Amino acid sequence: MSFSNLGLSEKVLAAVAATGYTNPTPIQEQAIPHVLARKDVLGIAQTGTGKTAAFVLPMLTILEKGRARARMPRTLILEPTRELAAQVKENFDRYGAGQKLNVALLIGGVSFGDQDAKLMRGVDVLIATPGRLLDHTERGGLLLTGVELLVIDEADRMLDMGFIPDIERICKLVPFTRQTLFFTATMPPEIRRITEAFLHNPQKVEVSKPATTAVTVTQSQVPAGREAHEKRELLRRLLREAKDLKNAIIFCNRKREVAIVHKSLQKHGFSVGALHGDMDQPARMAALDQFRKGELPLLVASDVAARGLDIPEVSHVFNFDVPPSRR
Ligand code: AMP
Repeated sequence: MSFSNLGLSEKVLAAVAATGYTNPTPIQEQAIPHVLARKDVLGIAQTGTGKTAAFVLPMLTILEKGRARARMPRTLILEPTRELAAQVKENFDRYGAGQKLNVALLIGGVSFGDQDAKLMRGVDVLIATPGRLLDHTERGGLLLTGVELLVIDEADRMLDMGFIPDIERICKLVPFTRQTLFFTATMPPEIRRITEAFLHNPQKVEVSKPATTAVTVTQSQVPAGREAHEKRELLRRLLREAKDLKNAIIFCNRKREVAIVHKSLQKHGFSVGALHGDMDQPARMAALDQFRKGELPLLVASDVAARGLDIPEVSHVFNFDVPPSRR
């Protein structure tokens, strides 16, 4: 799938090409056509999936037609923090460079007067944190009755920060007939309730977590023979030859495999512990404790048993099996 099949305007496609992106990310591919068809969208996606461009690009296409009126923004984007609001503004500056759009930020810590002057000139895109936005509407300098499209971004973070009552108030100030795009990484009950109240027949778009690896981690893939014993032999060689190996976790996909690899490494003289879902809590704690203290520098573990463990200073990780993909 390429960007040109999504229905975006020529200007927007040129801006995307100038950025160097070749293909849309899954959230972009799925959400952009719905946004352009003026449908409500419920996007379950987190930062890092390309979700900002998933609403910025079609918004730029939609905004090519029409003009802004004083004090009546045409579109409104709500963000939980100043930093996120500023990032969204940067996206509009980047992709909307060829368009004469007025984009305004309403965030705390910026002079009220400057913001008010900008609103007076007419705004195509208003990016705001909820509190500052309500300050402006209460002072009468801002009317939300012209908003054609509302974006509520990072809704679950808004919930954590106590902004849901503000969001509910804002939703009552924008026209009932607007288009709403709603993004959240998770769906706790309170967020589900809001989506039911404020979205009309939404198109649900869900993407899995991006695979992220810290930049400080060097990864490599080593081809192995098909036979299990060949893989174990290769593992031993990698363990012996690894540079600066202080300790290592070796992940296997199945408990049975954990037991086999553990026994095999022991037989070949390695100091190694094991961790899998069938072990009782004291045995798991003991294995982890020995690994943390460096008494057993190697730990063979099943993915499920070790998921989410926070063990500082692990120098090496070996995936004995290809890890299963997960959401
Ligand atoms: P976001 O999830 O919106 O915070 O975006 C995460 C990062 O992905 C940002 O640095 C974007 O510039 C980048 N990005 C967005 N769309 C694409 C794309 N189609 N191809 C490559 N990178 C992208």
